[in-house]
Amino acid sequence: MEARKTVIITGTSSGVGLYAAKAMAKRNWHIVMACRDIEKTQKAAQSVGIPQDSYTIIPVDLASLGSVRYFVQNFRATGRTLDALVCNAAIYMPLIKEPLRSPEGYELTMATNHLGHFLLCNLMLEDLKKSSSQPRLVILGTVTHNPNELGGKIPPRPDLGDLKGFAEGFKDPITMADGKKFEPVKAYKDSKVCNILTMRELHRRYHESTGIIFNSLYPGCVATTALFRNHYPLFQKLFPIFQQRITGGFVSEELAGERVAMVTADAEYAQSGAYWSWGNRQKKDRQSFVQQVSPQASDDAIARRMWDLSENLVGLTPVSSPAIAR
Ligand code: NAP
Repeated sequence: MEARKTVIITGTSSGVGLYAAKAMAKRNWHIVMACRDIEKTQKAAQSVGIPQDSYTIIPVDLASLGSVRYFVQNFRATGRTLDALVCNAAIYMPLIKEPLRSPEGYELTMATNHLGHFLLCNLMLEDLKKSSSQPRLVILGTVTHNPNELGGKIPPRPDLGDLKGFAEGFKDPITMADGKKFEPVKAYKDSKVCNILTMRELHRRYHESTGIIFNSLYPGCVATTALFRNHYPLFQKLFPIFQQRITGGFVSEELAGERVAMVTADAEYAQSGAYWSWGNRQKKDRQSFVQQVSPQASDDAIARRMWDLSENLVGLTPVSSPAIAR
């Protein structure tokens, strides 16, 4: 019998990550749940029926770079070989007026969604390289990263500008990647652009030399998850109904989790550098396709500069990236 493979999934205490863990357990993988609340994660795993021997929970706070490094140490101490990494955890804080800060002083949404995962991906490359199967690294994207898509047209639109905020260190008083005024919804969208740029740059730098498959996906509009817990209660009530009855974009948490598992484990998705989507209108038997990402998320110069500046922010290397000529 083939040995059980191991996947690390961040943010499995609810929503897409929890159901992705369930779908990976059904594929007979062992799941390392990288979460900040062990008790909550344990209860969540039990509530969806993930067998106890299919998972291990290792704590991590993705907003804290120190915690990410400690997580990697703890994972290595288990002696497991890593076959896939899924960067899924995220926060969305649409109503806050002032930025929150990570332990290292960075704006919290970008720190959690992008910088923590950026460091984790870089550190775990060594582990993925040791896998005897063809390892994969998956980063969750979203439609709102792309102003060319209907779901991405609603303002504020994402825009990293020339990454002035990153270049200036991203600590107080800097709150946004482009160095402009704090805008919490844009902070989320910007972080998702960085997620896709990270996937594309990982692919460009490491796919050929390591064989690792790097990909990303838009799982559909999963309007019932806890991602919207910081929105107005009325929005939380009406958003799923709107997505189900009006736009037809609604996807259940179970189906979204299954899509993550497909991109992480199934043979049809063994394509590196791809951004998978099932479109916005979720008709029955919807087929997946590789979708074009936004103009900014496809921009190689921005990808390289974002990479260099992020390396500096997470303490991987000193930066020497020239500003982008326009
Ligand atoms: P969710 O239910 O709120 O799940 C987010 C997960 O991230 C939770 O497990 C949460 O843990 C974890 N998390 C948040 N901050 C963390 C931190 N500092 N350290 C460690 N874990 C942390 O939201 P979701 O909708 O499933 O979102 C999952 C992914 O899908 C995100 O990347 C999101 O951008 C993407 N996505 C979602 C949708 C959608 O419509 N919902 C659409 C497209 C893409 P706690 O329980 O501790 O808070």
